[in-house]
Parts: sequence; C-alpha cells; structure tokens
Amino acid sequence: MGLFNTLPKIDHDRIVAAIAAAEQRTSGEIRVALARHKSADPMASARHHFERLGLGRTAARNGVLIYVAPRSRNFAVFGDAGVHEKCGDAFWQELAKAMTEFFRRGEFEAGIVHGIERAGELLAAHFPRTAGDCDELPNDVEDVD
Ligand code: CA
Ligand code: CA
Repeated sequence: MGLFNTLPKIDHDRIVAAIAAAEQRTSGEIRVALARHKSADPMASARHHFERLGLGRTAARNGVLIYVAPRSRNFAVFGDAGVHEKCGDAFWQELAKAMTEFFRRGEFEAGIVHGIERAGELLAAHFPRTAGDCDELPNDVEDVD
C-alpha cells in the first residue's frame, strides 16, 4: 500500500527486545504505539491508545505508552498515575527532548529504543521488579490508526 511507503522502517523485534530488557528491572509495563496516520494532537492520541491497550489497568498504575506518529513527526509519552506521582515533569521533558533529537534526524527506531531505555530506568528506580513479577501486558509494538 502506497500509504505506508513514506513510513520509516522500524524493526519491531528490536523494539520488543528493548521493552523486554527494560521490564527485566521493573514491575512497570511499557508499550509502543506506532501510528499509520498523522496526529494533530499526539498527547490526546497517546491517552486514547493508552486506555484502549489496557495500560491504565496495571496493578501498580505504572504503565507507560510511547506513542509515535512518524508521518506528522510527533509523539507523546503517556504514563499512568503511579508514574506521575513518583516522577516529576523534568524527567518527561528531558525524555521528550532527547527523543525529539532522534526523530529530527529521522532516526525513529533509535529514538523509540532510547525512550524505552530511559523510561525503563525511571520505572526501575521507582518500581523495582520483585520476585514473582508477571508480564501484565505484551511487550509489543501496536500499529494504530
Ligand atoms: Ca510486569
Ligand atoms: Ca510487558
């Protein structure tokens, strides 16, 4: 389909591996949503998919969704209440700035992996993984509209 021709190539396996690695150290759950279309309001889109993908239903309220819309060159990172309680705005601003640098260079995959790694570090500091942790949500990349 021609529509997809301009989308950057994203190695889903690499992203899944990055999520799995991050979740080795935290009880938090990370997912990535990759939009096929442009998003006029990435934060609203992120919130919508966050709920739809079940990220708002983790036991410790520590889900994080990284939503990326390459066609409009924007993105948003949406964390649940537990995450925001523990982590200040400064972290999110720094994360967004770093990811923006990658995306500006067209390095979408590297930018997403960076976001996963940094979000994983943050989650690990506040929500360390404990014995018997379960993988509440699949470590996947969702293609969304
Ligand atoms: Ca988990
Ligand atoms: Ca998971």
